[in-house]
This record gives sequence, C-alpha cells and structure tokens, in this order.
Amino acid sequence: MRPERKHKAPKASPDLAADKTVRLAQELVRVPSVTAVDPDDKPASHKSIEIMIEAAKKTGARIETSEFSGGHPKWDYAVENLYLEWTFGDGSAPAKHICYIGHLDVVPPGDKDKWTKDPFSGDIRDGYLYGRGITDMKGSVAAFFTAVEEKLEDLKKLGNIRVSMVLTTDEEWAAVNGTKKVLEWMKKEGIAPDAFIVGERSSQDTLGSHIKIGRRGSLVGTFNVAGVQGHAAYQELFENPNRALALAIAILSSKEWKDGNENFPNTNFEAVAMKSGDFGASAVIPGKAEALWNIRFTPDQTPDSLEKWIKDSLANPPEWAKSHPDAGKLKNITVTANKDTASEPYYSAPARLAKAAQAGIKSVLGTEAKLDGSGGTTDGRFAGKIFPDAEIIELGLPERGGIVCKHNKPDDYLTKGGMHQVDERAALEDLVNLRKIFAETLVNYGKQPVAANDDAQQPKAKPDAAKSRHTPHKPG
Ligand SMILES: [Zn+2]
Repeated sequence: MRPERKHKAPKASPDLAADKTVRLAQELVRVPSVTAVDPDDKPASHKSIEIMIEAAKKTGARIETSEFSGGHPKWDYAVENLYLEWTFGDGSAPAKHICYIGHLDVVPPGDKDKWTKDPFSGDIRDGYLYGRGITDMKGSVAAFFTAVEEKLEDLKKLGNIRVSMVLTTDEEWAAVNGTKKVLEWMKKEGIAPDAFIVGERSSQDTLGSHIKIGRRGSLVGTFNVAGVQGHAAYQELFENPNRALALAIAILSSKEWKDGNENFPNTNFEAVAMKSGDFGASAVIPGKAEALWNIRFTPDQTPDSLEKWIKDSLANPPEWAKSHPDAGKLKNITVTANKDTASEPYYSAPARLAKAAQAGIKSVLGTEAKLDGSGGTTDGRFAGKIFPDAEIIELGLPERGGIVCKHNKPDDYLTKGGMHQVDERAALEDLVNLRKIFAETLVNYGKQPVAANDDAQQPKAKPDAAKSRHTPHKPG
C-alpha cells in the first residue's frame, strides 16, 4: 500500500478556466481522436492535427505534415503526423535544438456509461478539466505549445536556439508509423536535436515530483505445451500440459533480478495470461496449454539475452526444480519471443536539459524533482535509438490526474480519474504550472552556452556508459 498523503484541493478559480493552456487542452480533448486504426476514426484524428496547425500558424512556426503507412505486416494503417519548428537567432552560430515529443491520439473511453459525463465533453468542474486524453497527453501538448508561444520574445533575444514539436496520432497503438518515422525523416533532413522532452506523464501523484531519464524495455512472448487429452483419473496414461506450464512459470518467476539501480527498477518476468482446459469438465486432462508472458527489462538486458535466459532456464533448471517430478516435462514447452515488436529500453544520463528542467520545477513549484526510469514504455525509446547522442527527459502531468483523494480514500485514487481510466482528468492548476515549467526549462536551456552542451553530451545515452556508471550488479 502507498502511504496516505494529504492532498490539497485544486484551485477552482475562473481565471484558470480562461487560461490559454487550459483552453487549448480543452479544444483538443473535445476531439475524440482515438488512434485511427479503424478508418472511421480518421476524421477526428485529422481534426486534432488541424487544431495544432491553426494554432501554430499564428506563431510563425515551420509546419510540416506527413502521413506514413506500411512498415509492418499487420499494423500498416496510415498515420498523420505533424512537425513544428521555431528557429530563433540569425543562424551565425551552431544552434541548440530542443525537441518536444508528444501524441494527439487517445485510448478509447471504454464503457461510456461509467463516465460521469461524456468522455469528450472537456468539462471543467471543481478545478479539473475532464476528458479522455487530458493526462495522456493532450494537456502536456497544450502546455508545451503555449510555453513556446509565451516565450517567443525571450527566445528570440537568446538567439541560436531551435525549438520543435513532433506530434503523432499513433502512440497508443502500434506506433509503427508515428514518432519513429518522423524522427527518421528528421535525421534524413539533417535536423538533429541535441535534447528531447517527451511530454508523457512523469510523476504519479504530484506534478514535478519526478523527471524520467529512461524507461525499461518490454518483451512479450508465449509458451505452448502440447498434452494428451484423457480421463483425469488415469493421469499416467495421458499427458497433462498444465504440469509443465506451471513448473516453467514457477521457475521463471523465482528469478530475482538484481540489475536495477537508483534509476531503474529490476527486470521482472510476469505470466500475464494462461489458457487451458475446460472449467465445465473437471474429469478431463486438457490436450494443450498456453501462457502469455511479459518481461519489463533494464538496459542491461536485450530481447535476445532474455529469450536465451528463458530457454536456458527451462533446459537447465535451478536445483530445486531439477528434483521436481515434472522437470522432465519442461522440454515439451515451445517458447516464442516477439522480438520484432519488443520495446527497447533507453537511458539518458542527466545533463543540461535535466538540470534546466529541475531548475524550472524548483522555480515554479519550489520543489526538488527526482530523476528515475520507472513506468511503462514511451516514444522516448525511438529518440534514444535514432539520436543516441541527444539528452532525453520525460516530463508531463501526474499519471493520476493530480488526483485529490477528497476524503483521503484510496478508492477514487485507484479506480478512476487517472490516465486510461474512467473520468480521466487533470487539475487546471497543474496544466498552468506545467506550462510555466516548460517555459522556464526552455529559457534555462537556451541560456546555456552551446559548448557546455557538447561537453555534457560526451558520456550520454550509450548503454555502455549507463552500465558502467549506474549498474552495481550484473544479473546471474
Ligand atoms: Zn501517452
């Protein structure tokens, strides 16, 4: 259980409802831009891009739209993306380039009847803006865009800085034709940011408590075991596939990974789904069994090393499992690891950008932000792969919508209000403060000399550097 915390209720002032960040976020939330895997969702997805184009036109941004498709046998649907860029200064010196990565697509609202109001109402109540996608991550997109707008003059004065935004409409689904393709296009065009801000949620409860400097990877796969169906009273005549499957899961779950560090939780193996037998037939040994598993892993592991670990663990199990009566059945398991769709982990050693953001948080909220690499996968992994020398941080709204447990009860906390949940919401105060943090971060970053950045970048983002600097233990 999490320790209970006292949350103060957010400010519900009408000024906040009229704030430019809140208004843009509201306009975006009112568009039901569920990832357009289904062509019926394309118009809404397109509309979300149009809103950003209209806003960007007023700021003199360079505006590039793109549509990518193909690239995967199954997830080949067309995806619209947007690239915005502002260049400040006369171009006489090498410019720093800070790039924001965000998405305008949202997950479906689920059972609409469970929502207090329409999921795309964009309603403001009690100091919160409600709607699917406000936390993940239209609120953050609106905050960054309006931060740039607000600081146009200051950035002009600083000169020699470029600011850009990559906005995709395919992050919540396959992510095949979104951020990855835009970043590849940028690279081809010679656009190479030295710093990325991924605007995803980066703290759980309180805005600015954490800045992410990496994310673990994710590998999914299956176990399939063939058995021989028969009467449960004559098990010696048949082959119960559940025996092998259960032992395999016990062996793999018993591994205590110790590859975490102050930035990353340890790797973990989870059996997430199992299928076998018939709950209406208690006397039948089933003919087959299967399981779906997911491994979340640190930069010390790779999809290849994990697949090998699984196969080795089953071929040569630990001592306690060797003496298990079902040990001989482990060889009946077919292992599949979906390496082609695995999410790579990334780690970016904190440098200038992390410092600039920490200072921004300190000046806006008066608090110290911790750096860490926990949480789910994000498009930050593509930036880490395509621009390995750039510094990457993730900074956005709290995952739980800046939730106040009004009565300090955990139920409201955990069942609704957060990202991907019913009644997703963000506190107006957080939306406005996130804009201020982004604005401060941009200016702080812009003030630093270019040369300092080059020095700071040397040891960064390389997995080897990450290992040698931050990994006290190697997995066995
Ligand atoms: Zn997201």
